[in-house]
Amino acid sequence: MHEIILCKLGEVVLKGLNRHSFESKLMSNIRRRTARYGRFLIYSRQSTVYVEPRDENCDLAGAYGVCRQVFGVIAVARAMPCEKTPEAIFDNARTYLGEALSGAKSFKVETRRADKTFPMGSIQLSQWVGGALHDAFPHLAVDVHHPELTVHIEVREDAAYVHAPSEPAAGGLPVGMGGRAVSLLSGGIDSPVASWMIAKRGVQLEMIHFASPPYTSQPAREKVIELARELVPWTGRLNVHIIPFTEIQEEIRRACPEDHFTLIMRRFMMRLADRLAQELHCRALVTGECLGQVASQTMDALRVTGDVTELPVLRPLIGTDKEEIVRLARHIGTFETSILPYEDCCTVFTPRHPQTHPRVEEVREMEQTLDVEGLCQRAMDGRESILLK
Ligand code: ATP
Ligand code: MG
Repeated sequence: MHEIILCKLGEVVLKGLNRHSFESKLMSNIRRRTARYGRFLIYSRQSTVYVEPRDENCDLAGAYGVCRQVFGVIAVARAMPCEKTPEAIFDNARTYLGEALSGAKSFKVETRRADKTFPMGSIQLSQWVGGALHDAFPHLAVDVHHPELTVHIEVREDAAYVHAPSEPAAGGLPVGMGGRAVSLLSGGIDSPVASWMIAKRGVQLEMIHFASPPYTSQPAREKVIELARELVPWTGRLNVHIIPFTEIQEEIRRACPEDHFTLIMRRFMMRLADRLAQELHCRALVTGECLGQVASQTMDALRVTGDVTELPVLRPLIGTDKEEIVRLARHIGTFETSILPYEDCCTVFTPRHPQTHPRVEEVREMEQTLDVEGLCQRAMDGRESILLK
């Protein structure tokens, strides 16, 4: 018999009547993500998704790793099936969890019995296997309240299973269930983290990036694609839409007051993201903005940049500190790439004294001299989309 993977569902189980669609979305995400590690049978029972190898060629460790990164799963465990007798179950626990049992100081056994025809009750089976394990590992104390190790037994129709201790997984909600949004991805630390946080809440993202060649380089552009690629194990497939931004920036520099460069540039970013959202049926924008972090992220500045779109702008980092963001970036796996020293289009033409308390009416007025529509249209026409799987 083969070892299998158990994925414990998180909040999904709280969703009442929608639960079925949440579960099937989660299962299809797990199916797609594990496919590269072999052929697996995937099904759900009692708040758990089972990932079962169909043949010898499956890479279970690989599949286990990806299951930990699928949003909607709060914990994962490996389990070993065996024959449905108390002796076989004990023997399975003793060998399969031998190392964990030897290393622990206290333990308990917990049984779930889906097969009601099994001759022993759950408590009775737990006690029987617990007693036998205690004899086999005499150093172990039984502690039903705070055991260091819980040995899980499940008795099902086809077999009995012994679970290894579970490990925490990604949590959140299955991607795709929360609709779609356009996420503004720069090469910085913040926007990949913001994207990850919104994907974690079940949102399918379309990534948009603004590049200003020759002011921004090819390596800077590749860095952003790499960041998106590092998000894929969490989010599933991602599109990165790269928008040429040079003409817009040069026009702003030519026609607008220097202290408003960054703000007007950010307004163009929001306009273009809004257009992409309309085109791709996305219902929100996502940014890595954080209150007070830079001049363009004061409340007044956010009012000005948010002015050009009617879509909700999701800013999951708004109340976080840099330290917290860095910790998350490391956990996600984007930090090392983010700190590579390439320029972003935000860092070209930066004003010496940026306006921190801009007024919407004034900024609208300044833009009167620009051909906003033409600039946006040409930028959208010049875009390039890259699909990452
Ligand atoms: P980050 O670390 O995400 O770059 P930041 O603190 O450097 O953020 P800004 O440079 O002011 O802040 O950018 C604010 C937000 O605007 C970013 O988090 C990102 O969502 C978006 N943004 C900035 N530059 C770009 C870009 N070149 N392409 C796409 N989005 C961008
Ligand atoms: Mg930045």
